[in-house]
Amino acid sequence: MNPITHALLGWTISHPLLKSKRDIALVTLGSVIPDIDGAGIIADFFSQSWPQPLSLYSDYHHTLGHNLFAAFLFSICAGSLAREKLKTFASFFLVFHLHLICDVAGSKGPDGEQWPIFYFFPINRDWKITWSGQWEVNAWQNMLVTVISLLVALNQARKNGFSPIWFFSRRADAAFVETLRARFPLKESGANKSC
Ligand SMILES: [Zn+2]
Repeated sequence: MNPITHALLGWTISHPLLKSKRDIALVTLGSVIPDIDGAGIIADFFSQSWPQPLSLYSDYHHTLGHNLFAAFLFSICAGSLAREKLKTFASFFLVFHLHLICDVAGSKGPDGEQWPIFYFFPINRDWKITWSGQWEVNAWQNMLVTVISLLVALNQARKNGFSPIWFFSRRADAAFVETLRARFPLKESGANKSC
């Protein structure tokens, strides 16, 4: 799946689990952080004219960041930065694994590459997870998940009084929430999250 769908899933799942905006942001980060191992694509791009171009993306994407040990490492870091430490650790670990499941289900490349998950990397570099029913990254199933999670996120913004815009501009976020509430009024007062 693409990072936007992963982030929307992390955002919507973390809302009912956590009280503070900071913890929700940390857990949302957990839903996209496995893909940090795809950052090598930038170095690959700039090395195209070299005698021996790099191939970091194909060598390490779905390997370095998509495994159990990365899940523990990043979850511990997130938990240590959180207000609700244990809950954030557990929620981060959960959405991290949801990312892996979503990748196994719906990340087939246009060339048929399945991008297997080497779950026990680096201890075991052979055992991998794939699924024969995997659909392509731009398949309708992924689009459906994106649309549903976007609608849920909008409803959460309306009810809880904040959206991801809050992290960039509190004023713009307040205007956004006001617009949502004007169009779809709340039946009872919403539950605002702490910082
Ligand atoms: Zn991924």
